Amino acid sequence: MGALGALGAARIIAAMRLVIIERDGVLCVEREGYLRSPDDWQAQPGALEAIAQLNHAGYQVAVSAIWPGLGQGQFDMATVNAIQARMSKQLAAVGGRVDAVFFCPHAPDEACDCRKPQPGLLRQIGERYKTNLAQVHAVGASARDVQAAHAAGCIAHLVLTGKGAPAHTEPLPPEFPPGVQVHADLAAFAAARIAADEAAAALAALPTPAP
Ligand SMILES: [Zn+2]
Repeated sequence: MGALGALGAARIIAAMRLVIIERDGVLCVEREGYLRSPDDWQAQPGALEAIAQLNHAGYQVAVSAIWPGLGQGQFDMATVNAIQARMSKQLAAVGGRVDAVFFCPHAPDEACDCRKPQPGLLRQIGERYKTNLAQVHAVGASARDVQAAHAAGCIAHLVLTGKGAPAHTEPLPPEFPPGVQVHADLAAFAAARIAADEAAAALAALPTPAP
């Protein structure tokens, strides 16, 4: 993704609606270890269509992921690009689009601030889009994901399609921050988000009662 031109940035500030989606466990099926070839990429059922629905509702979608080894050259860029291309192609086939993918490329022992549950990666996304993260919905699949979203000040959502899904959700286990909204999967998140927007728009369209 290239740098935003001044005009593009201004347009985004005016009409910014952003959803940040964790890749592993939300958008694609989690693997043992990490994605190493395009064949490892498998979308969660309904997730691609959910992104298309969010796009149609006016949302830009950014994806976050950890990809340890990326920073040390353990993957060649051709492999990375091939995996990304597979994702984009499958999304395009259902009319969806991810605006950008942001990675933490560090190993656990590098003590970076962008590896979940640290909020650095989400903050980078907020800076890139020049948007207030308090208005951004961030969807994760594990306690670490929603801890990062909470620490970054995003509206935190949990889907239950990842390996980190809790055994019970009412209430969530104590490692989950307060206020997390729980959905079965990304499709359920998208449906709830769009329904909430439509309800808010209908409310805003009501005539103001006379004093
Ligand atoms: Zn990192």
